[in-house]
Amino acid sequence: MSNSAHILILGAGIAGLATAYHLAVKHNLKDIVVVDEREPLGLTSSRGTMAYRNLFPGPGDAMVRLLNRSIDLLQEIDVATKHAIQLSQNGYMYFTAREAQIEKWRELARDAEQRGVGKFRETTSGPITHAGAVDGIDLLTNPDLIHQHYPRVTRDVVAMLHVRRCGAFDVFALGEWLVSQARTHGVKFLRDRVEKISVRGNRIESVHGASGAEISTDTLILAAGPLLPDIARMLGIKLPVYNELHAKMTMRDSARVFPRYADLLLWNDPQELEWSETERSEFTAADATRWLLAAFPGGVHFLPKGTPEDPKIMGLWTYDMRPSKFQAEPMFDTRAAEIILRGLARMIPEARVYFGRGREAFVDGGSYCKTRENRPLIGPLPIQGAYICGALSGFGVMASQGAAELVSAHVVGAALPAYARWFLLSRYQDAEYRALLANWDARSGQL
Ligand SMILES: Cc1cc2nc3c(=O)[nH]c(=O)nc-3n(C[C@H](O)[C@H](O)[C@H](O)COP(=O)(O)OP(=O)(O)OC[C@H]3O[C@@H](n4cnc5c(N)ncnc54)[C@H](O)[C@@H]3O)c2cc1C
Repeated sequence: MSNSAHILILGAGIAGLATAYHLAVKHNLKDIVVVDEREPLGLTSSRGTMAYRNLFPGPGDAMVRLLNRSIDLLQEIDVATKHAIQLSQNGYMYFTAREAQIEKWRELARDAEQRGVGKFRETTSGPITHAGAVDGIDLLTNPDLIHQHYPRVTRDVVAMLHVRRCGAFDVFALGEWLVSQARTHGVKFLRDRVEKISVRGNRIESVHGASGAEISTDTLILAAGPLLPDIARMLGIKLPVYNELHAKMTMRDSARVFPRYADLLLWNDPQELEWSETERSEFTAADATRWLLAAFPGGVHFLPKGTPEDPKIMGLWTYDMRPSKFQAEPMFDTRAAEIILRGLARMIPEARVYFGRGREAFVDGGSYCKTRENRPLIGPLPIQGAYICGALSGFGVMASQGAAELVSAHVVGAALPAYARWFLLSRYQDAEYRALLANWDARSGQL
């Protein structure tokens, strides 16, 4: 391989692969190299739940516009691959047992409609499905109707929100297709660990690998996922990002208790977990376990996976949001699966059959690399020739196509969409943006 590249993309996660695809295939650029110490999708991108949605909160409509665009592009790929990426759109369903939540959901859905999520429809009597409703949000506030249509959901549910432009897809198939498209259009893949980046006169000059290789380039795109802080240090800059470790559990639903009503089912309400008397006294006795008896936040959710004949679920619950240092081989709480199953049983009571069986589940996950307001960084960096496509938090596979299209537009100098400025690193220098940050929650838009 030549020791120079016109464009060098650091990272073969979904962000790097999608960027390589956009530059090589859509912009027909040549001499592109993707460097990664792992196989494509070898880190965070292969550890998620592979779901997508267009429902994101404000301020502004930038996240919704970015995600709507990204989903459009995913749909195009689904058609181009003859459905190999298995994009589905059965929506996300949220359930609550709290009357007070209904008004909050109304506000959320009205606000979402203003920001491009799609029409808000409320009903107490049905119809429960809206033919042709490809986006928007349905709010159903008739418990009997909910029970009639979704009998596996707990009887005390009072309302349900069905967010329509949401679903799931196969990230592995998407990654494979992006790699093959990029290769066909001349992109080279190099397996190496980047250890140093040379900058001369505030311009990118070259990248040095652990193998001893030095590749000179005038354009470097950082798509290093949770390792972005390390890469930024090599450039002598500091990025406003940090990592959070998130676990997911995957389990065969041998008892067939988890319904397949939608692509994702979420219990909205905070809850205390159901433990036996023996477990409760054991947990009370030790400082290290007392937290298991405290209230857990709302948001536990699962995605039906596998097939109706061989059903599986993936479960996730963002109950721990402490920043954590990146670990290549992270250790997860050994109770994570048991906790998620107990939480899910609040929504699907029959899941109690799995109490005490958390060890049957496979637990993995990775780091969300995020900014304090949970918005990505896409665009140029203060060093000439350097760009970033990262801080993709828990939405990186769904946003990958939109983010890659956007960073590519920056690189080639194409027209930028209105939402572009919301994702620039330079936004933090804007006084108005900084004022917004004062009231911005890092959980914003995170399930
Ligand atoms: C449990 C969990 C569930 C999730 N669920 C979803 C979901 O349902 N939907 C969704 O959209 N997103 C989800 N996500 C988030 C999504 O997985 C990430 O946002 C996305 O994978 C980030 O992609 P990336 O390409 O930026 O990073 P990565 O996939 O981490 O890729 C970065 C690459 O850079 C390489 N690299 C870094 N430093 C170097 C170096 N010095 N030299 C060489 N190579 C280097 C790494 O080896 C790696 O391959 C989830 C994440 C987790 C952890």
